[in-house]
Amino acid sequence: MKYLIYFIVPTLLLGCRNNLESDYDLVIKNVDLIDGTGNPIQKAVTIAIDDKKIVAIGSESDVNARTVIDGTDKFLIPGLFDCHVHTGDFKGDFVNLIHYGITSIFVPGGSRCTNEYYAAMRLISKQDSIPAPRVFHTSQHFTMEGRHPAKTYGSFNRENGENIFYLKDTIQIENLVKQVAQYPILGIKITIEDGPTPPFVERIPQKFVNKTVKEASKYGLEVYAHVSDNIELEMAVKGGVQNLVHYTGVNIDPNNSLHLKWIENLREKDASWVTTLMIDKSFLYPLHPEWFDVEEMLPKYQKIKEVIEPSQIERAKIIAESLKKEYGIEESTFIAFVNHHVEDVKFLYDYGINMVLGSDTGNEFNFHGYSLHEEMQILELGGMKPLDIIKMGTLNASKMMKSDDTLGSIEVGKLADMILLDKNPLESISNSLSINTVIKNGTIQSRVSE
Ligand SMILES: [Zn+2]
Repeated sequence: MKYLIYFIVPTLLLGCRNNLESDYDLVIKNVDLIDGTGNPIQKAVTIAIDDKKIVAIGSESDVNARTVIDGTDKFLIPGLFDCHVHTGDFKGDFVNLIHYGITSIFVPGGSRCTNEYYAAMRLISKQDSIPAPRVFHTSQHFTMEGRHPAKTYGSFNRENGENIFYLKDTIQIENLVKQVAQYPILGIKITIEDGPTPPFVERIPQKFVNKTVKEASKYGLEVYAHVSDNIELEMAVKGGVQNLVHYTGVNIDPNNSLHLKWIENLREKDASWVTTLMIDKSFLYPLHPEWFDVEEMLPKYQKIKEVIEPSQIERAKIIAESLKKEYGIEESTFIAFVNHHVEDVKFLYDYGINMVLGSDTGNEFNFHGYSLHEEMQILELGGMKPLDIIKMGTLNASKMMKSDDTLGSIEVGKLADMILLDKNPLESISNSLSINTVIKNGTIQSRVSE
């Protein structure tokens, strides 16, 4: 019976195609295309989509389709990836992510991330009618008792073996990796961290990092490390880690030969590095109520402005002072923080490291969907070009997700994840917020209509 179905289905599909010659599911006509590969903009092209995939790109506009979108004076970019997302309520957060054109996310663990929670997220992400991005994720955090994130977010329920793994010795790592490798994970999440805030704790031993990378490789898995300073970066590099989920806290000096050795090592193994510069901005949000006054910010996010507490403002002031000290900068303006980080990100990008966009959304004042656009604005403020920023959020991100054969750019053969914009994002990256239509898997997605 199984074989019968297998033979009948392709025949039916072929028959269907012959009757509707040159017909497509969806066509976007006369649109300016920014394809995500870093190539220059292509003017007035037609994109044809059939059976979830991009099947033709050309200048001919006399094409029939079940749905036709007039792209005149509009701009098409690939669906965006946020490669650092946490969610405690994925059903609510997914709607907001899709609203802002985030068609793929990467979840590197979190307080709710049990196997069941991951499975529920994957299930909803695999259909096209309820707004939900594609979901990629790691294992639960590999860390040690008393360390981040158990220490930092102690109030959340952390259950060893459920949403977190406390490492005790290197032998145990063999079994743990074998256990998590049964699930459809992209790799292992490991936390190398002595803080992030005082009182500082002892970091995970180097041999734990080495062993995790070694065991993961037996199952074809990579390791995704949380590091937050140069010592931890060096540990990750020495241990053979392939992906870093934050930039924040690290300080690369292009004139330091040791730093260059780390970077060279990362480039040789095709490492990916997530930006998450939004973290500093989110800390400073309570000091800048004007940041909420953006037309494209969802009212539900804008309302947060009304409930900021004095204690949150006080904490933001303390963090602002400590950031000033940490980065050795005189000004306390936001642009000073931004320049400091973006210089490094740009250096790494130009050096050939696969830099990708991520916001660390799910934390306070770091808003699902919206904050990835803020991440892009931070990079532009610091001097990066919109074309490069878009590539970091699309093709580069899909490489990190090991899915650049099917996602990440608008090219023939790839799945049709794309965003139609009313304004040109190359003129100002903030135009990425001028979203007209979001398409995932060739299906037009419904957006929040408040
Ligand atoms: Zn995170």
